[in-house]
Amino acid sequence: MIIVMKKNSPKEDIDSLLNRIEEKKLKPVPLYGTERTVIAVIGDERILDIDTIRAFKSVDTVMPVLKPYKLASRDTKYENSIIKVSNDIEIGNKKIQVIAGPCSVEDLDIQMQTSKKCMASGALIQRGGAYKPRTSPYSFQGMAEEGLKIMETVKNETGMPICTEVMDPRLVSKVAKYSDIIQIGTRNMQNFSLLKEVGKTDKPVLLKRGLCSTIDELLMAAEYIMSEGNLDVILCERGIRTYETTTRNTLDISAIPVLKKLTHLPVVIDPSHAAGDRDLVPALSKAAIAAGADGLLIEVHIDPEIATSDAKQTLSTDNFDSLMEELKPIAEAIGREI
Ligand code: PEP
Ligand code: MN
Repeated sequence: MIIVMKKNSPKEDIDSLLNRIEEKKLKPVPLYGTERTVIAVIGDERILDIDTIRAFKSVDTVMPVLKPYKLASRDTKYENSIIKVSNDIEIGNKKIQVIAGPCSVEDLDIQMQTSKKCMASGALIQRGGAYKPRTSPYSFQGMAEEGLKIMETVKNETGMPICTEVMDPRLVSKVAKYSDIIQIGTRNMQNFSLLKEVGKTDKPVLLKRGLCSTIDELLMAAEYIMSEGNLDVILCERGIRTYETTTRNTLDISAIPVLKKLTHLPVVIDPSHAAGDRDLVPALSKAAIAAGADGLLIEVHIDPEIATSDAKQTLSTDNFDSLMEELKPIAEAIGREI
């Protein structure tokens, strides 16, 4: 159930309604908009009497939400969500944000050099995996906390916020301590205990679409995070598995306008994991921006040939710089900037 409060309702009216819902052992999640507050009620709402709620002071309308996802739905919140990553970086606003860096954190020098070059080209957020979800248990598994510390050192020197993956619910608080955006990888999109754990943190979550998941399943995964209280979810399309084998995955460009219709959450595109081939990354990045993506997540390395993972799809810093230049007129053409 969604309760829409009247414009500029006094705080005490909202609070008393929140208390009433909590007394019924349901969870109210208030979404404070610029003019109106909307309260989403989580739990078995049949125990709430709709007419009693309608009679509450300052309540405008009460609607059942037909979609299985409520907090993520555009029916609940019409305006686009703008997610604050740091004091001056937001995702979902006019500026398209680019998250760039190596697949894995490898050593301080590589992370530092790559991040500085990416920043000079216009990417404001660094990426790098310290805990890597590798298909083979014999492949490099990441540097763990040492990798997080390397990213922290780079952040201290450059100011670039950190986007990094967590795979294990037991490590969420450790990874959250270092990161500005916690990444949930494609293989964990439906790891519900992990989703609940990141939902309890106060860090934005970049949720990657499962490689065999539908858009509804992606939105239900976002709902798991949001229903724990963390509303700062950034959705990421990174390619899905289809019958096509010439690319690593198939980038679902239509996911962008579909998600824009269904949800208020920002959408980021990862052309690197979609393509699996650095030559395809520029075209997919351009298409993503033209289709309305709020950001890009791109694998970049000062020397891609020596990258410990995903070398084939990783751009050199020079190629990344040219790409950023080529993206500017496209962003401008649709009224945005990069
Ligand atoms: C990554 O971004 O480092 C990654 C492993 O991506 P995905 O989960 O999309 O494969
Ligand atoms: Mn990778």
